[in-house]
Amino acid sequence: MSHEFDIAVIGAGPAGQIAAIAMARGGRKVVLVGPAPDGSDRRTTALMDQSLAMMERLGLWQELRGRTAPLQVMQIIDGTNRLLRAPTVAFRSAEIGLEAFGYNIPNSALLETLSKAVAAEPLITRNTSAADTIHIGTDGVTIGLSGGELVEAAFAIGADGRRSNTRESAGVGVKTWSYPQTAVVMNFAHTLPHQNISTEFHTESGPFTQVPLPGQRSSLVWVVAPPEAERLTSLSAEQLSAEVETRMQSMLGKVSVDDGVQAWPLSGMTAKRYGKGRAAFVGEAGHAFPPIGAQGLNLSLRDIAALEDILIDGGSAPIAADSGDRFDRKRRLDIASRTASVDLLNRSLLSDLLPVQMLRAAGLQVLASLGPLRNLVMQEGVAPGRGLKSLPSLLRKKVGR
Ligand SMILES: Cc1cc2nc3c(=O)[nH]c(=O)nc-3n(C[C@H](O)[C@H](O)[C@H](O)COP(=O)(O)OP(=O)(O)OC[C@H]3O[C@@H](n4cnc5c(N)ncnc54)[C@H](O)[C@@H]3O)c2cc1C
Repeated sequence: MSHEFDIAVIGAGPAGQIAAIAMARGGRKVVLVGPAPDGSDRRTTALMDQSLAMMERLGLWQELRGRTAPLQVMQIIDGTNRLLRAPTVAFRSAEIGLEAFGYNIPNSALLETLSKAVAAEPLITRNTSAADTIHIGTDGVTIGLSGGELVEAAFAIGADGRRSNTRESAGVGVKTWSYPQTAVVMNFAHTLPHQNISTEFHTESGPFTQVPLPGQRSSLVWVVAPPEAERLTSLSAEQLSAEVETRMQSMLGKVSVDDGVQAWPLSGMTAKRYGKGRAAFVGEAGHAFPPIGAQGLNLSLRDIAALEDILIDGGSAPIAADSGDRFDRKRRLDIASRTASVDLLNRSLLSDLLPVQMLRAAGLQVLASLGPLRNLVMQEGVAPGRGLKSLPSLLRKKVGR
């Protein structure tokens, strides 16, 4: 059966726009459905080495590069008042032969670059209506748009966020869980240079993570209990600047927080399947977790790379009816392991249990002192599988010392 489009991408957030561009670059005729993001997102996204290689391959990195800052050192400081405190651990990208682990990109710059690239791509038809009804059949997909139009495609990529209509229409359930935490997000100027160092303070309420931006500026994700988030977001810019500076022990000098502080309540979600028949669910339509270790969109880019293998590698051949099932099998391990490790790290910060604190402190102590293991963790952080591949040579180096 022939369709007007090979692929309908539903949702025009970062995951949906990148998916549409990747599929079009692979020669597929794409319709990208969904309202344009409203430009209010003040977050920044740290994209790691492997994700940047993909952005570069899709021609998206060159324009963005000047609006981003490299992450060359990532340090973790135990900022808790607990009995057992972990040592400070610093990871340097040069230790694994990289100029930077990744780059920190303001979401506003990312979304601007993506929508320009979408508009310039001849194989993408852009429709800013919402998808009201989605029928996923054995021969194709039919989407009823909010404007009343019908769109037909051979395959649907659901990139329509946590409450994905695509996923629900495919009859796929989710497992959800909540955290007693809210991420307070802001950007700030400081009087001392950050030297491309990102510092994550681990606190009893969650991580407080400063990430470099170009110049003497940084972004901050401060994870706190919901009532504390309310208090922080109601402070004046001067009061909040003083609190940030105190929490950072003035390591970046005087802090001046920008207007527009935002609060993002945290929760976790994973779809019971990541694809089924003629549909796949990417980005937060498939998985969502707290912003620890910059994993969310990086994981979504690996979803999209897996779809490139399944939907493009066959050239212009018709899209197979079981492509969603193949995607599901291909993505299970990576998504499950990232979701579990972020959850474990977050819960270990929240837990007051002494054995949990001992394990966390001991884990960081091992990372601080054991070069090969630290190296492995760094490699896995930038590209899953990369560390394990180099494990034999890392061990040989250690034994040879
Ligand atoms: C505080 C914070 C910091 C973060 N920092 C990082 C980081 O440093 N690195 C990292 O990798 N990740 C990070 N993340 C995660 C990252 O921001 C998310 O993974 C990413 O924004 C999700 O993008 P998405 O496109 O999947 O979903 P969304 O951005 O939610 O986009 C979904 C889109 O679908 C549209 N939509 C919904 N329903 C319909 C419909 N029926 N029809 C059409 N369109 C529809 C919506 O309008 C929306 O535009 C962070 C997250 C948070 C909360």
